[in-house]
Amino acid sequence: MGLIIRSSAIHAAGCYTTTRIPKGKRIAEYTGPRISKDEADVLYEDSPITYLFGLGDGTVVIDGHCAAMFINHSCDPNCETSEVKGRVWITAIKNIAAGAEITYDYCLYDGGDDEATCNCGSQNCRGTMYSRHEVRQRKAAARAESQKTGKPAVSGRRKKAR
Ligand SMILES: [Zn+2]
Repeated sequence: MGLIIRSSAIHAAGCYTTTRIPKGKRIAEYTGPRISKDEADVLYEDSPITYLFGLGDGTVVIDGHCAAMFINHSCDPNCETSEVKGRVWITAIKNIAAGAEITYDYCLYDGGDDEATCNCGSQNCRGTMYSRHEVRQRKAAARAESQKTGKPAVSGRRKKAR
């Protein structure tokens, strides 16, 4: 199995497989230093792009430094992520053809005023990389806030999560 990084139609760079991958195979680990959410917020305060992956309850994040950090989001992904004893694995949920781009659903949360627009192009695209739960929360927060001030206010940075 070989993973390569090259330009992608979804977003600047993507992660591709050079060989066929069978459904159920673990293909990569999301690795990098573990830092606290608060450290990440300071470190990336002015950075539009982060490669943070939220662990557990979200108080610790992995600051991605690996091939897996280039894997793009899709609303119709061919992989999923799972956290096992503090390590994050990317596993195929479909048979993946050689040459295909590897994707998983980012299920973003904690994204501030970032729209996190999705360009995955899949038929069931939900238009955003936020999780369905986060989309519901944001709508509720925006409604509550607009009743007070007339504009939405949410704080924090966006993270990837299962
Ligand atoms: Zn999409």
